[in-house]
Amino acid sequence: MKRLITFWILVMSTTPTFGQQPLLSTVGRELFDSYEEFKLPSITTRRFSQAEMLGWVKPFQDQGVVATVPLGQSAEGRTIPLLTYGAGKTTVLLWSQMHGDEPTATMALMDILNFFSRAPEHIVTTTIRRYLTLRMIPMINPDGAERFQRRTAQMVDMNRDAQRLETPEARILKVARETYAPQFGFNLHDQDPRYTVGNTKKVSAIALLAPAFDESRSDNDVRLPAKHLAATFASVVGQFIGGHVSKYDDTFEPRAFGDNIQKWGTSTVLVESGGWAGDREKMFLRKINAVGLLVSLYALANGDYRSTDLSVYEHLPFNTKYLYDVILRNARFRANETAPELRVDIGITIDERRNDGGALELVAKVVDIGDLSVYAAFEEIDATGRMVDSSLVKLDQPIPLEYLETLRKR
Ligand SMILES: [Zn+2]
Repeated sequence: MKRLITFWILVMSTTPTFGQQPLLSTVGRELFDSYEEFKLPSITTRRFSQAEMLGWVKPFQDQGVVATVPLGQSAEGRTIPLLTYGAGKTTVLLWSQMHGDEPTATMALMDILNFFSRAPEHIVTTTIRRYLTLRMIPMINPDGAERFQRRTAQMVDMNRDAQRLETPEARILKVARETYAPQFGFNLHDQDPRYTVGNTKKVSAIALLAPAFDESRSDNDVRLPAKHLAATFASVVGQFIGGHVSKYDDTFEPRAFGDNIQKWGTSTVLVESGGWAGDREKMFLRKINAVGLLVSLYALANGDYRSTDLSVYEHLPFNTKYLYDVILRNARFRANETAPELRVDIGITIDERRNDGGALELVAKVVDIGDLSVYAAFEEIDATGRMVDSSLVKLDQPIPLEYLETLRKR
């Protein structure tokens, strides 16, 4: 109860006086600090099914926070719903998880619904409700989500199906865009968690892009507002993850949805959730998404996004892949029993796998051996002067987690 009161004091603090709008950075800070009060507590893991998600949506539907209509069915017959919030003139289409194993923004959308439900008189809520109509398609690839895989049940990457429209999921997204004719779109994904921001050795927590609509990456009156919106998102989340925001590859991809939806006339921003040290479940990045999206929508609603400095977006360094999960530094190493000894760094990735019993487990793998001084890692282990066991450390082979643990301890 005490926490709830704190929340409402915060809510009151940004109520505008004399018609003044609070600064976006102030609103962002308030939402960041009060996130625990509005995050949806039922979501505790990033692996969830459509059935679970629909269970989270139902109370919002029953309370009248959102209206729900079916858009169509996935290949396996799961009904994909559209959730609508607000009754404003500007329509914004938000879709998430077209890649089934990219659920971070789906969780954030649930938090945002919970925010609308818990704080109906907050200036962010009232402004969004009045000026925007949000059309949300959380989890547009429910069959892929069921398996936690990128592709749909038909083994197609639906983000390469925007032209052919062979998959039902791609047709649903295309028809939704035509039906609701959104002025703005948010294309919500997760990217490889091992991208860095340019050559800074800092992990990219969020990558943004106003996708190109042609080969020459021109600007027009559709793409420019998208760049302003991306700049707004970048500066809002930059307060919390400064230096960890990058730009996604801007090469025109003629088969992808972001690029085509931009081309079809909707100002579209791609948001990619990347990596964060110690956040394998991506709960911190979920929070960053929820805050970034809420404030960006608020800025769209009140028009503030137009005055965000475009250079904030233009100067974002591109994603660069320069990160391992673990690097053992300065180890002594012999490739085999008879090989001479070398001083090397050892790069290791750690991924989740399903074992034969179907349970999730972590698998560590040696992916690089040599001078890795240009690479960074989530975890650096100083192995100076230490001989590693060449029977356990082999390139492109798994390394036992227990052995890694003994190296950590030294
Ligand atoms: Zn994706």
